Amino acid sequence: MTLLAIDHVTKRFGGLTAVNELSFTLAQGEVVGLLGPNGSGKTTLVNLISGDLAADGGRITLAGETLTGRRPDQVARAGVARTFQLVRILPSLSLTENVMIPAVFGAKSHWGAEARAVARDALERVGLAGRAETSAGALTYIDQKRLELARALAAEPRLLLLDEWLAGLNPTELAEGIALIRSLSESGITILIVEHIMEAVRALCSRVVVMNSGRLIADEATETALRDPHVIAAYLGE
Ligand code: ADP
Repeated sequence: MTLLAIDHVTKRFGGLTAVNELSFTLAQGEVVGLLGPNGSGKTTLVNLISGDLAADGGRITLAGETLTGRRPDQVARAGVARTFQLVRILPSLSLTENVMIPAVFGAKSHWGAEARAVARDALERVGLAGRAETSAGALTYIDQKRLELARALAAEPRLLLLDEWLAGLNPTELAEGIALIRSLSESGITILIVEHIMEAVRALCSRVVVMNSGRLIADEATETALRDPHVIAAYLGE
């Protein structure tokens, strides 16, 4: 079953077309890599899916429901959660409080004890349950990343958008991060990953979509794409 469909989506910034008539689909349960050199439009596309940016043309649907034209909170309610390149957490609040907010405003609108239980579960999934009452600002970088992922999970998404979530991790943390993403996939979440670390892309994604200058230049098996002359040329042209 198709979960996400991107259909001829376009986004312009003044004279620059950052995303140009882009189309691809994600099947329910897939983990797909979104690749491309710097400036190719990957983050813009993530922002278009999440509702943080409005498209100038085309349509985005989740399980047949139109997302284009909706606000980020409405897209979250429809079942889409994301992480940001620069971690967004609330440093003065506890981990539990950080995670309860998306539990209340996510796909299922939990309240009170129920929101607290969803928050606890999300912290447990990322390995932070033991520190639930710590203030978020006291966390190390990797733990802040874990917390941000927990915030995304607390919204109980069907589709998770990871924008370079693995960037900046040391080799041990990277292996843990890959295992964590794999466990989320095994729990049934469909995942689109923007990632420059090819080891992670190879480990997690059987398929990748590749952008260059706002256009889709490949949509194929990961190993095929990494040998594809068009893909290699796009990266070398960076
Ligand atoms: P990537 O994530 O692949 O590095 P981006 O989506 O960040 O690429 O950027 C695609 C293009 O759009 C780049 O040329 C970038 O400078 C431009 N761009 C991105 N966001 C904005 C914005 N808010 N205003 C103007 N130009 C932007």
